[in-house]
Parts: sequence; structure tokens; C-alpha cells
Amino acid sequence: MLVTLKSVLGIAEAENIAIGAFNLTTLEGIRAVIEAAEELKQPVILQFANAAHKEYVSLENIAPAMLALGDKASVPVCVHLDHGADFEEVKRALDLGFTSVMYDGSALPYEINAANTRTVVDLASQYSASVEAEIGSMGAEISEDGGEADESCYTDPVIAAKFVAETGIDALACSFGTVHGIYKSAPKLDIDRIARIRKVTGVPVVMHGGSGISDEDFRKCIENGVRKINFYTYAAKYAGEYVKKKLEESSGYVFYHDVAVWGLESMKKTYIDTIKIFANLK
Ligand SMILES: [Zn+2]
Repeated sequence: MLVTLKSVLGIAEAENIAIGAFNLTTLEGIRAVIEAAEELKQPVILQFANAAHKEYVSLENIAPAMLALGDKASVPVCVHLDHGADFEEVKRALDLGFTSVMYDGSALPYEINAANTRTVVDLASQYSASVEAEIGSMGAEISEDGGEADESCYTDPVIAAKFVAETGIDALACSFGTVHGIYKSAPKLDIDRIARIRKVTGVPVVMHGGSGISDEDFRKCIENGVRKINFYTYAAKYAGEYVKKKLEESSGYVFYHDVAVWGLESMKKTYIDTIKIFANLK
């Protein structure tokens, strides 16, 4: 069934777990996420990063599939816009029926980010949708190149508290050592900063850049207030490696429908393993 971000984060809060938020660009990606969540009986967040992934599929083409499969699922599913760039993009997602949007004004000066985020919260409330926004910076958009975290961009808890109070958002994306894409060196996370931000803002913390984080670090982040974890790059990478291996093993014709199914199988396995860690399941 379709639910808001606020609703799934309430479940996460009550159970002291984090909900996986998985990006997708194909029907196989949507099925992999939903089948994994249904198998484990856990809520899940299907998200589309229009800014980063529109070259693979348009928001208008992927949205109906996300919403239809999410609605039909036996577990709560939030359909979320990742890194919404501007009002126009946010409104497109809300008009299509998304139950949650992220507005990312983190590259803008504080006052403009706060004012724009407030406008997005007012707009989303007309659709009964939730809003995630960002203070501090993990880079403006998703890249697969990755890199190293810049401590000067880490989220300041005092500014975060002011931002949440002024905007009325439901969840806050924070910078505390994670980066998008593939890490160039082992990430060092400022776990204490998560706890301070959670305490002073009163809203769930969102981690972006979940690929390459150890299981132990995931647990520490969750224990300190992370309730939504964005994870995608490794699922796509593992699926790519799996398809490559299957192609190398194949002789004769290769049919594209088999490639799609191999991708689905690999992504589903990755999402099952990931949801188990986030939900503290054995
Ligand atoms: Zn992100």
C-alpha cells in the first residue's frame, strides 16, 4: 500500500530501525525492491533521482510503474522524489502522485534554502505528502564517481535545529562523512554528530551515500537516529557484475529479456541483504 515518508519513518522510530530508500531506473529495479521488502515483510521507500537518472528514463514514464506496484504491494511503500532540484520538478512528482519529495537546496545560501524548503512544505501539504530537505552537503546530485567527504560541509547541529523549526520538514538529510557513489577511501563517520542533530532537531535523520558503509557503521548510525538510508550504487554495480559474469558463461545467442531477469535477481538479493541489516533481522 502507498504511504507517506512520515508514516514509514514513524514505523522506523518505533522499532529503532532504518528504512531502505532505493533508487531505480527500470521496471526490474522496482520489482527487485518490492519483492525484497515483501519477502522480509518490511516497509520500503522507492525513489527516483530525476536529476541524476533522467537520461535513463523520464519521471513521467517511471512514476506510474512505481505507484502501481507500490500500491499493490503487501507492505507499506513510500514513493519518493530524490534530490528534487526546483519547485517545477517537485510539483511534477506531486502531481504524478508521489507520497514524498526531497527538496535539495543545500548548495544555496542558508536563507534561500530555508525559504524554498518552506514553500515546498506548503506545496506538499496540499497533496498530504511528506518532505525531506538537506543542510550541509554531500554534493548536489548523485554521482557514481564518489570521492571523499569534506568536513567543512558537515551539518552543523545548531543550524540544523533552526532549519527544521523554520521549515517544518519531516526528515533531514545530513552530512556526517558519507558521500554519493563509490568511496575512494574507507569512510570515517561522525556518529556523535548524528546523535546531536537528532536530539536538537527532533526529526529523523537521513543518510545518503549508503554504498560501502560497513554493517557495524550502519548499526551505529541507526542507533543514533538515522531512520532512512539511501542505497543504490552497489546494487547497480553488483547487478552489472552479475550480468557480465552470466554473459561470459553464455554461449550462443543472448536474449535481452534474460539480461533483464539477471539484473532483477541480483538487485533483489542485494536489497534483501541490505534490508536485513537496516531492520536488524537475522
Ligand atoms: Zn543523495
